[in-house]
Amino acid sequence: MIGKRLFTIHPWKLTTTTLETEDRRLQESLTSIGNGYMGTRGNFEESYTGDHHQGTYLAGVWFPDKTRVGWWKNGYPEYFGKVINATNFIAIDVVVNGVEIDLAKVPYTDFYMELDMHAGVLSRKFTIQVKGAKVELSFERFLSIVTPQLSVQRMSATVLEGEAKISLTSKLDGDVHNQDSNYDEQFWIEKAVGTEPMSYVTTETMPNPFDVPQFSVTTAMKNQTKPATVGIVETASYTVSERFDFDVTTGDSIELQKNVLVVTSRDIPEFEQIFEIEKLYAGVEGKDFDTLLSEHTEAWAKRWEIADVMIEGNDESQQGIRYNLFQLFSTYYGEDERLNIGPKGFTGEKYGGATYWDTEAYAVPLYLALADPEVTRNLLKYRHNQLPQAQHNARQQGLAGALYPMVTFTGVECHNEWEITFEEIHRNGAIPYAIYNYTNYTGDVGYLQHEGLEVLIEVARFWADRVHYSKRAQKYMIHGVTGPNEYENNSNNNWYTNTIAAWVLRYTAEQYETFGHEKIQVSADELAKWKDIVENMYYPKDEELGIFVQQDTFLDKDLKPVSDLSSEDLPLNQNWSWDKILRSCFIKQADVLQGIYFFGNEYTLEEKRKNFDFYEPMTVHESSLSPSIHAILAAEIGEEEKAVEMYHRTARLDLDNYNNDTDDGLHITSMTGSWLAIVQGFAQMKTWDEQLSFAPFLPKDWTGYEFRINYRERLLSIRVDENVTVKLVSGAPLELSVYDEKITLSDEFIIPTKKVGA
Ligand code: BGC
Repeated sequence: MIGKRLFTIHPWKLTTTTLETEDRRLQESLTSIGNGYMGTRGNFEESYTGDHHQGTYLAGVWFPDKTRVGWWKNGYPEYFGKVINATNFIAIDVVVNGVEIDLAKVPYTDFYMELDMHAGVLSRKFTIQVKGAKVELSFERFLSIVTPQLSVQRMSATVLEGEAKISLTSKLDGDVHNQDSNYDEQFWIEKAVGTEPMSYVTTETMPNPFDVPQFSVTTAMKNQTKPATVGIVETASYTVSERFDFDVTTGDSIELQKNVLVVTSRDIPEFEQIFEIEKLYAGVEGKDFDTLLSEHTEAWAKRWEIADVMIEGNDESQQGIRYNLFQLFSTYYGEDERLNIGPKGFTGEKYGGATYWDTEAYAVPLYLALADPEVTRNLLKYRHNQLPQAQHNARQQGLAGALYPMVTFTGVECHNEWEITFEEIHRNGAIPYAIYNYTNYTGDVGYLQHEGLEVLIEVARFWADRVHYSKRAQKYMIHGVTGPNEYENNSNNNWYTNTIAAWVLRYTAEQYETFGHEKIQVSADELAKWKDIVENMYYPKDEELGIFVQQDTFLDKDLKPVSDLSSEDLPLNQNWSWDKILRSCFIKQADVLQGIYFFGNEYTLEEKRKNFDFYEPMTVHESSLSPSIHAILAAEIGEEEKAVEMYHRTARLDLDNYNNDTDDGLHITSMTGSWLAIVQGFAQMKTWDEQLSFAPFLPKDWTGYEFRINYRERLLSIRVDENVTVKLVSGAPLELSVYDEKITLSDEFIIPTKKVGA
């Protein structure tokens, strides 16, 4: 079910000639830009009083908001971590002949907006006619990936007819609020507003009772105009502004370049921030917009060189994956090991902008292939650094070992719905899985042997304590959980949870027996207990149907396919009561299939097929994480049409607003999904047992596709058209297999492409 498509199809761009007044929030989400350090929604520079969502977010800057619930349950976290809206630094008020330009009020023509994903720049123009003057206004901006603290903007005004008095007021506005906030709080206190050595605003987050450090942020600007004009500088509460006045006649233009620098207490103490900004400014001073932009664009070109996936014959598919990679890398490119990947990145406030299991389950495979192994190691270290907090989370639940949080900034759980905090514990399997994934993909056992085993052992201890032994069944069971399918709570023996718990115990025992550990001792008794659980875990299964059962009572539900629902029912989470959803058989996202995906080498094709054919028809894919896993498995079992449908759903989830919720922000963590669907789905790239293999097919409506991967110090390119061409771009010869044929790749290997599932 496609929602609304706001932008034209283009392989490298999002363009439109329509200002979507009714869907402005959606348009803003889609035109968000970021550079890993900060990001802004696609807000307008000039004033806009129509419905919209102003949003500027800074990586790692957040606020712990007290948990307030009607009935407190022991084990609840004390606070919910929230990403907070920061100083609006893009603002430039425009007044022409005394009329404030606000597209919600002033008539305009020739509106054009463009997000160029290759260059990483957002631009817009339109023409207005006010009091005898016709003026074309144009805006461009980018957040530099060369100097991440830097935002660069250029706006120009050209008078097409008549005479115009134009005044431009460039502002830093620290008086900002969150929209997704329960109690309308203001999260910032003004610390300083100044004009020397340049205009700046320093704000600090409100104090909190949870020992979470307050963040302070200084945002400073330098404005330059053509023709050169001296600005009138004014300060007010939370705000500083510089106004430039021009008299412009027909045919003439004026221009403003606004450079903004943002420094936070994550890196620099408050009292030094403005001096740090001066230093940073020295590095960009004298460079005009075009110079700064070309440096930024070159850096993007380097990213694209390795990451781009080329699709021939279908620009919709092409635009989708490039958009996803662009937004993902705008959120996280691995430069800062203190950071992680929030589900909404810098594009909205929902989900708190924190770390979820999404990173380990969905992002790690992509970063392994497209970035230096260091990036994934940093993501793993992030969790290792938070081990004490994960131990705290387990204690909160009265359990041993470590429980990684569902949602966090610091490692301390900060999600406060009982069915998630207490029950959605499967998340505690994804962190060990990523350690396995990294080790298996890179062949580097260094992390596993030291930090990795510390994490594994503590997580294993959690699972060994969380299971219970059913004397009646003579099996270990796990009751009272929420599986990945959040449309069911308090289930017993969720197959996926039991599977990943037993896997963690098995993998940890094996690795401990292989490597031992310099700091942690696991006794023979403890190891024996883990093995006993592994051998005697209970897995719900239905022999007749040939499927693993999602949880003990799933088959007693009123089972029916999604195709029996009417279009008014969907999405269920916007049309049905929660009660009705929880009792239904409809599945939010891959659950049993998530396990089959993770441990794909342990199940036969027949098992995969039966489970897919049973569960997928009941799946509503209302988590953005869902379609990619289904695309991968559909490709493997030979269901091309389903695989392609699922690819489109993951690749164009936001561009086509499939789940009718992109107005809140983009689904950043699931943006890896289109890459997973092509690489692990259509090309069937696997790395089981440290053996790289491919078994590609070419979707019917594509004429070819091509991607690159880093693998064990090699760069490979894989092209699929009527042939599969695997090329060693750099590095030493490598053994791999294509359609089960083992080869040693030293240059190029070409073989005719087989049909899907052949
Ligand atoms: C999904 C979770 C996911 C979270 C953040 C939820 O809708 O069900 O699996 O971790 O979104 O992306």
